Parts: sequence; C-alpha cells; structure tokens
Amino acid sequence: MMGRTHLALGAVAGVHLAALSPRMGLPIMAAALIGAILPDVDTPYSKLGRRLWPLSTLVLWIFGHRGGTHSAVFLVIVTALMWMVSAPVALALGAGIATHLAADAISFGHGTRFTARGAGVPLWWPLAERKSGLRLVKVNGPLENLVILPWATLYAAQLGWRLL
Ligand SMILES: [Zn+2]
Repeated sequence: MMGRTHLALGAVAGVHLAALSPRMGLPIMAAALIGAILPDVDTPYSKLGRRLWPLSTLVLWIFGHRGGTHSAVFLVIVTALMWMVSAPVALALGAGIATHLAADAISFGHGTRFTARGAGVPLWWPLAERKSGLRLVKVNGPLENLVILPWATLYAAQLGWRLL
C-alpha cells in the first residue's frame, strides 16, 4: 500500500498501545509510525526510501522490493534490537511493522517493483522466498484511498484525541 496508508494503519496500532501506557504515549506513537513505513526502506520510491535513497537503493539491489524487510525475521530482529532499549517502544515498533506486512499481504500492484502476481510478502524469508498474500486491495486504488485510508485516519484521530 501507499506510505500514507501505512502511516494511518500504524497510527491505529500506535493509539491502542499508547492508551495502555499513556506516559510513554509520544515515543510509542513515533515508534509505531516509523515501524509502519520501515519495511519500505527496500525501495527508493517509498516515503522513507526517498529520504534514505543511498541505503534504500542498496537494500533494493540486495533484497528487491517486498523482500527480506517484509518478513517475520525482519520483524523479530528489529523488535528484539529495540527491546534492549525500551520494551514498550519495541512493541510499538514491532506492531507498526506488523501492520505494514499485513497491509502489503492483502495488496497488489503492477510494474517492476512487484512480483508477477504483484501481491503478497515473503513472510518466511529466507527459509522460503515465495510471497504469500491475497489480491484484495489494489495499491493506490479506490478501496485503499476511499475506504481504508479515511477509515484508519479517522479511527486513529478520534481515539488519539481522547488520549490527549
Ligand atoms: Zn511494503
């Protein structure tokens, strides 16, 4: 899905976790939002990848888009590393990454950045390279832009508003 939708879905996860630990609300929200776009560090065409283009170009060259950074092992390693710094922030970062993987697993696109079927994520990489997912939502299509994005944005905003 598009970066803005990933951010909105990350915000949904973030506000729920922030509600559990209001004193850590700000770092938890920040971590959930960063986690939500972190897997797309594997393409210089993404929100994050554009800003870190030397890194994203290198990661794209090594793994390809929707490669290793879209796997369970990436989720576990990043969360475990952050756990050494802060457990609540690590959980939020992991939750953000999880929303990204889930959203990409049900969305598909076209062009060289996607696989032949254009859908899914290689969840079990590097054990299995095969991508699994469903062709439910077209990337940047009407379902994403007119339903999922507005719903997630409004949901996160109204829940976040109550936390302030
Ligand atoms: Zn992605």
